[in-house]
Amino acid sequence: MERLRSIVSAHRLWCPLPAPTDVLFAAHRQETFVRMVLVGWPLLVLLLVMIALSGPLLFADELVGNREPYWWPSVIAESLIVALTVGLLYFPFFQKRYQALIMVAGALALAIPLLGALAMDDTRLMRAMSYITMLIITILVLVLKLSLFNAAVTCLIAILVATGITIGLGVTVDWALFGWHAIGSLIVNLFIGAVQERQERISFLQSLLLEHESAERERLNEELARIAAEDQLTGLPNRRHFNEALTREWDRSGRTRKPLALLFMDVDYFKRYNDSLGHLAGDECLVSIAGAIRSAVMRPADLAARYGGEEFVVLLPETEVDGAMDVAQRVLEAIDAMAIPHPASAVASHVTASIGVAVMVPLGEKSQRLVDAADAALYEAKGSGRHRIVLGH
Ligand code: GH3
Ligand code: MG
Ligand code: MG
Repeated sequence: MERLRSIVSAHRLWCPLPAPTDVLFAAHRQETFVRMVLVGWPLLVLLLVMIALSGPLLFADELVGNREPYWWPSVIAESLIVALTVGLLYFPFFQKRYQALIMVAGALALAIPLLGALAMDDTRLMRAMSYITMLIITILVLVLKLSLFNAAVTCLIAILVATGITIGLGVTVDWALFGWHAIGSLIVNLFIGAVQERQERISFLQSLLLEHESAERERLNEELARIAAEDQLTGLPNRRHFNEALTREWDRSGRTRKPLALLFMDVDYFKRYNDSLGHLAGDECLVSIAGAIRSAVMRPADLAARYGGEEFVVLLPETEVDGAMDVAQRVLEAIDAMAIPHPASAVASHVTASIGVAVMVPLGEKSQRLVDAADAALYEAKGSGRHRIVLGH
């Protein structure tokens, strides 16, 4: 991306794209080209009709004698080339190879008026042919998105075919005039085409950069939302996340009339644990306890969070008293099973916890009531000896 950014800001005269961006650009060009031709071909037909009619309307006096057979066969040939090219472009096979198709069709379409410009022994007619030549080159380079190199090759082939036939026919040619008209317009058009293609490359790069930047912004936003909702030490959802979930589930529970359960857990004698083993060991202990809680909470809708310090909560939507007591029991057992030594605890030789449980169906009150009830039950669990579960009422 940095490389693409530097290409855009370099403002170079030609803007080469590094792989694989060049492939993407080619695909983008192909897509816009096919869409344009399939929608805009009636314009080509209109142009053909105008050119066809210009013969009898403008050059009735000149298109006589040996010049007469030139006009209508040329018009028919041009029409066939346009019809065949547009028709083939409906097939994905040719859509993929549109540059080659346009090169062949373009060389043929260009050779016809070029031949006219070379072989007409009438100045007015020759000039008209030159204008048509210029018009076709303009369409090839600017509208049909022939890449610069391919456009140059196409024009060269057309010039070789037309001059070859002219020389073969033994016609005397005003080469100087031909050079001015045909080659001159070719150079100007190729130059304009190059400028346009450079501009297209730059806008393509800019759109790529914009896409990349908005994807990056989205990623950062998601990352930020994750960080804002997560407790750094344990990786569990934090209190802010819990509060949001609580409000949401409380409202839902009020609507569905299904009970919402909350476990409020506090590690026993944790201050003493810190005091005897150090704050760092305390942190490690909290990480282990978070893991134990996580392992005890089964349903995807359940939410275990760190409420703060050595206090944890588990929110259990659509859960009756029995279910909530089961989960609380599993949490205590998981913590006991780890048997983290606690030299200063008055209830056991290892780290233990107390849990207050509250289960409610909301009746219009605030969700804080559930938290208060679970907290009160926890207080009771602490008061009645710790390392136990108390169901609030
Ligand atoms: P009780 O059984 O009554 O809950 O006693 P307790 O010591 O666990 O309760 P108290 O509220 O007196 O102390 C909680 C301690 O938890 C105080 C604090 O040092 C510790 N603590 C809180 N947050 C952290 C933390 O992030 N890391 C560590 N290591 N300790 C913490
Ligand atoms: Mg506490
Ligand atoms: Mg405690």
